[in-house]
Amino acid sequence: MTLTVMTLPENPAGIYRLDSLGPGVVAGFHSRIFDHSKRGEFLRSLGLRPENLVRVKQVHGSKVVVAENPDRAFLETAADGLVTRVPGLVLGIRTADCAPVFFWDPIRKAAGIAHGGWKGVKEGLLNQMLKTFEKRFKTRTTDLRIAIGPSIRRCHYEVGKEFLGFFPGFYFAQDALKGHLDLCGSIKSRLVKRGIPEGQIFDAGLCTVCENKKFFSYRVERQNPERMLSVISISEGR
Ligand SMILES: [Zn+2]
Repeated sequence: MTLTVMTLPENPAGIYRLDSLGPGVVAGFHSRIFDHSKRGEFLRSLGLRPENLVRVKQVHGSKVVVAENPDRAFLETAADGLVTRVPGLVLGIRTADCAPVFFWDPIRKAAGIAHGGWKGVKEGLLNQMLKTFEKRFKTRTTDLRIAIGPSIRRCHYEVGKEFLGFFPGFYFAQDALKGHLDLCGSIKSRLVKRGIPEGQIFDAGLCTVCENKKFFSYRVERQNPERMLSVISISEGR
């Protein structure tokens, strides 16, 4: 699987396209060059229509909504996952440390995106995504192709020892009180356990703290309200 970095003359390395998901879908995220005022530019660069963007409130929970149009009311909907089968609709999730998780079912032509923070992941958000795909689109989990975008990684994700109980196998003790969490490792493992072949899960492997020059990190810059927008959209006219 590959990650294509689109280089535009005026925005070098500003846009990341996830070609790994295969044909029929457009997915990507941007670097910190694109603040919220340049969101339209980012979407248009991917060939997407800004007026088709649909986002939810993002509350670190496990609720998933099925979107059929870019209704602004979704912004008031407390949810952390979006799925659709409508071509051209742009599903978006904002993050700065939490993991954006992209979903594509090339057989049923259904796409989704989730806000993978530790709380949502712990509360079953990924399972809820898969259940929604299965129930609404008759997706077989073995068909799904998944991508994980930029996120805080084990190298920088220091957490308290209570995380040992939350994420057994993905908490690495540093001393008696704290350790490091491998959130993306846990995301992958949960997906594999639910039947998604490992070779169909692509991890961009980018750490928002290691690469803070490129990406926003809530841990590093708490006062900064900017976030990366990650999007997925089913190609139109296929
Ligand atoms: Zn790091």
